[in-house]
Amino acid sequence: MKHINTSGEKSAILLIYTGGTIGMKEDPAVQALKPFNFSQILEEVPELGKFAYRIDSYTFDPLIDSSDVEPSLWLSLAELIEERYDSYDGFVILHGTDTMAYSASALSFMIEGLTKPVIFTGSQLPIGAPRTDGKENLISSVEIAAAKDSEGHAIVPEVCIYFDTVLIRGNRASKTNSDNFRAFRSPNFPPLAEAGINIRYNTGLIRRPEDWSRRPVFHKTLDTRVSILKMHPGITPQIVRTIICGQDTRAVIIETYGAGNAPSKEWFLSIVQDASSMGKILLNVTQCQAGSVNMDIYATGKCLKDAGVMNGYDSTTESALGKLFHLLGLHNDNCDVKAGLESDLRGEISK
Ligand code: ASP
Repeated sequence: MKHINTSGEKSAILLIYTGGTIGMKEDPAVQALKPFNFSQILEEVPELGKFAYRIDSYTFDPLIDSSDVEPSLWLSLAELIEERYDSYDGFVILHGTDTMAYSASALSFMIEGLTKPVIFTGSQLPIGAPRTDGKENLISSVEIAAAKDSEGHAIVPEVCIYFDTVLIRGNRASKTNSDNFRAFRSPNFPPLAEAGINIRYNTGLIRRPEDWSRRPVFHKTLDTRVSILKMHPGITPQIVRTIICGQDTRAVIIETYGAGNAPSKEWFLSIVQDASSMGKILLNVTQCQAGSVNMDIYATGKCLKDAGVMNGYDSTTESALGKLFHLLGLHNDNCDVKAGLESDLRGEISK
């Protein structure tokens, strides 16, 4: 635990470092980026000391490239936030960009009734690089995590991603660019804030808890028996059956075409029906970057609906995965899982 001294302390922020490019540097021995000690990040961003906040930091050990993220990291993050919830006004999580949208989605479901900001950020260039985007991302994330309204409530009590001047809801985000500074998009929901000279909050869109005085509920049971079937021309019956009827699979996200369409071929529908009657939960999410599933437009979508496939609406795949892990962990009864999938739990779908 590190502490940055600032004067005239107003808010307390916990900076949680999990790994990722933001804290990496070139290892000359292997000529590749490797994570370095978090204390060096603080040396790189002396600007943090200018805030009138108390900023503590927590570093995960080992630090990981986010391609190695597992649900165990989400559990550790949820536990850490739960343990320190009363000591801080907001949390900033430094995380690799590759799986940040998965982690932000999962955390949004794992914490119910959030009253404080949990802001994920990272960078495309290491914080020590001359043209780094990491400094602005980190500094603005801290400012957003500390921001309060006139009543002293957090302005953004949500799990979000802040990147390249835009704050987006975590469970609406996807990484859409591997080298542009604007790495994340929220195609189906407007930004919650945009940073220019001032940070402008879209307060009408930001979710607020029903009761500010109630502690959130931390859900720490995840059931990961979920597979993803991405439809493509040429997919074979063997592959479809293996992915959706596997005995270790409890739910399947089917990434369909357009507004939720899949082949109308007899063999495909019969496998989907088999999976349904085996008790698999099947969720239809579009592989389009934006827009929603509507299984009533085309006959191909209607067949899926008739076979018991559920509507994922405008959910991202990342969000659908986190939601399913959470709902399957919470409920043994598939009817309860299905009711949860139909509901907008954390602002993740628009119906
Ligand atoms: N591979 C890195 C990670 O996700 C990329 C990044 O941080 O941007 O950890």
